[in-house]
Amino acid sequence: MAALRSLGRLVAKKSLKHSSSVGRNQHVRYLSNGLPGLSETHQMLRQTCRDFADKELKPIAGQIDKDCTYPKKQVKMLGELGLLCVDIAEEDGGTGLDYLAYAIAMEEISRGCATAGVITSVNNSLYLGPIKAYATPAQKEKFMKPFLNGDRVGCFALSEPGNGSDAGAASTMAKLDGDEWVLNGTKSWITNGYESEASVVFATTDKSKKHKGISAFLVPKPTAGLSLGKKEDKLGIKASSTCNLIFEDCRIPKENLLGEPGFGFKIAMQTLDAGRIGIAAQALGIAQAAFECAIDYAQKRKAFGEPISKMQMIQTKLADMEVQIESSRLLTWKAAMLKDTKKPYTKEAAMAKLAASEAATNVAHQAIQVLGGMGYVRDMPAERHYRDARITEIYEGTSEIQRLVIAGQLLKEYHAS
Ligand SMILES: Cc1cc2nc3c(=O)[nH]c(=O)nc-3n(C[C@H](O)[C@H](O)[C@H](O)COP(=O)(O)OP(=O)(O)OC[C@H]3O[C@@H](n4cnc5c(N)ncnc54)[C@H](O)[C@@H]3O)c2cc1C
Repeated sequence: MAALRSLGRLVAKKSLKHSSSVGRNQHVRYLSNGLPGLSETHQMLRQTCRDFADKELKPIAGQIDKDCTYPKKQVKMLGELGLLCVDIAEEDGGTGLDYLAYAIAMEEISRGCATAGVITSVNNSLYLGPIKAYATPAQKEKFMKPFLNGDRVGCFALSEPGNGSDAGAASTMAKLDGDEWVLNGTKSWITNGYESEASVVFATTDKSKKHKGISAFLVPKPTAGLSLGKKEDKLGIKASSTCNLIFEDCRIPKENLLGEPGFGFKIAMQTLDAGRIGIAAQALGIAQAAFECAIDYAQKRKAFGEPISKMQMIQTKLADMEVQIESSRLLTWKAAMLKDTKKPYTKEAAMAKLAASEAATNVAHQAIQVLGGMGYVRDMPAERHYRDARITEIYEGTSEIQRLVIAGQLLKEYHAS
């Protein structure tokens, strides 16, 4: 573990240098001639994360799924490796890598354990992402620094019981009372709700302005007036907690407003644009794990006197799985590279998330088919991958919402003059 940690730091340091010079040039080369290839530092990071996932995550993934136990020890290890603050600048105490590195790390972590993947994703992109972009130095001191090394995790509270896809219809209210904001309302489906020690919360400060009246707040936990609902009993990613955050006259200091008043919806949408790259990578990791399970089994299992991998119908499945995974990976890396090179990436992030999440669902479905009866029981991980894959088509915007985003961007690009 000590060796792994120092390799993590080494990768972080090398990549920092690369991200400002070599790494960025390599991105451009990759995009212009279409040749796949990662920089040496990204490859090292990939290997580090893969080794970590094989050694520390894969062996516990089945058990924590059964017990619904939050993987506290493994989250701490992820923090020590710098994987809970991948793109936070080194001067802010983060790892200082780019978003491609984050996508690579997310895939490998999720290949080992999808629950560890979602915890990593929420802390990196949904919690630290908006703080990185909008927090004041004082806010960063309090809400960023303690959340980098795995001692504490954060969460992101946008959805409500009455509105998920229609996030602009937030009914949670925030009213200024002297030097304090008073929050009232319920946020639903909040990942890391039980373990998190702070949340980025979206609430309406001016209802007449609709989505332009939503603001973002930094809420420490515990805070008087903030309570938690029951832990949701989920289909997959079962070792992560998901619950309501209930605000009843919950008072926070005036200075906990994140960004300008009325900027909340913009902050949320920008956060989700980036977050979708991480969820695409999570889906990829789940798909890759399901695929590896299927191809291994296909080569070992014999039917009609030969390994089932010799049968063309099984080969077709394996080939289709690989095409879906690899094409989703290219979309995901492309979206990350566009973000890293400060180009627009809303459409590409939505395309990556849509393609990768649908690939994960399909690959995990076909993996069960390749395993036959063994795919349907808990002795093998295929059924867990199938359950874990499903959420990637729902959170951070459903597949229907991704299609709306893609079409909206397309209609702007192809606007008839
Ligand atoms: C396990 C889990 C973890 C989550 N974690 C978080 C979190 O940490 N923070 C957070 O804020 N939220 C979180 N969510 C909430 C998640 O983002 C929402 O569930 C999701 O955005 C969908 O919203 P909804 O459930 O209200 O569905 P609805 O918006 O009610 O949608 C229901 C159906 O209608 C479709 N639909 C809705 N609008 C349209 C439209 N305009 N056109 C076409 N179809 C449409 C949807 O695609 C879907 O199929 C989580 C959810 C789950 C299940």
